[in-house]
Amino acid sequence: MNALRHHYGVATWVVLTVTCYFTAILWWPLALPAAILALQIEIIIAGLSLGSGNNLRAQSVILMFLLIAASVYFATTTTWVRYAAWQFLALVALNAIAGVIIGRIRILILGFAAVAPIALVLLWPHSVLAGIGILALSHMLILYPTLRPNAQWLGPVFTHFETDKRELWLTIDDGPNADTPALLDLLDRLGVKATFFVIGIIGERRPDFVREIVARGHSVGNHSQTHPSAWFWCAPPARVRSEIDDCNRTLATLANVAPRWFRAPVGMKNPFVHPALARRGMRLIGWTARGFDAVMHDADQVLERILPHVKPGAIIVLHQGREHSLRVIERVVVALQERGYSFVIPDDAVLRNTNR
Ligand SMILES: [Zn+2]
Repeated sequence: MNALRHHYGVATWVVLTVTCYFTAILWWPLALPAAILALQIEIIIAGLSLGSGNNLRAQSVILMFLLIAASVYFATTTTWVRYAAWQFLALVALNAIAGVIIGRIRILILGFAAVAPIALVLLWPHSVLAGIGILALSHMLILYPTLRPNAQWLGPVFTHFETDKRELWLTIDDGPNADTPALLDLLDRLGVKATFFVIGIIGERRPDFVREIVARGHSVGNHSQTHPSAWFWCAPPARVRSEIDDCNRTLATLANVAPRWFRAPVGMKNPFVHPALARRGMRLIGWTARGFDAVMHDADQVLERILPHVKPGAIIVLHQGREHSLRVIERVVVALQERGYSFVIPDDAVLRNTNR
């Protein structure tokens, strides 16, 4: 429910912005878009000045009331704006129902995407632009949570775990590469247990590495069979399923493990990923902090990126297989240990996807 509220602000924001564009494009008073834009700025300032760390939520609440009030007003006018207003009011009602019943908005987004083309046809004789706007909005509502890692509109993405100790979960993606033996030695030396999100075809090249990871007390997760980072976001259902299944099969064959965690390549997950995982009893694991160490080489810079997000129960994501990987992992782990943190592999029961 928290995630729903959190992201509802962004959804309403998109609606408002699109409405602004249309109002600006069409002939009817230019004062209207200017007024709405000015309103947005005020809302942002109001949200920021609250300074409670819940700015987004504060903005969401204010925006919601303003949008509902504005929509009720515009729904009673005779201009084309009433179509957008009714559409928004319907969205609010559906969202509330979805929120109460299922606690997430995946069904709503997909349902809206299914209805949007009909809206385009119905609106065609009146306002082509409004119809296209609704269609574009429905696409945006799918694209945003797909492309944005950790966005929860399409289903739970576990981003931290519950703990009252200074504990963290270290996850290492993209292996097991040639640096695996050295990495395992390093983790032993530092007294760290981690989870390796393995790419199936890389594991197939070195089955001994996969077995060694498990033998040394670490766990393995599914990071897809081929790691299609460029297009996993638009992969059709059959391909999503085969990426998950093939990697599961690989890990079962190589190390006799049944992964229950999946991390999407570059964190992108389209509407087909969650149903596939649910049917397999698996969970999508996101992260609390990432250091962009797949592209950044400097260990201190990576640490700087990670530190502000670290708190008890945080999930840290780092990568192996790069020339600088061991250096980065050692730097980050040591720095966090110096701050009193230890590294554990959490149980499913304490994984959390809500905001905090
Ligand atoms: Zn990856």
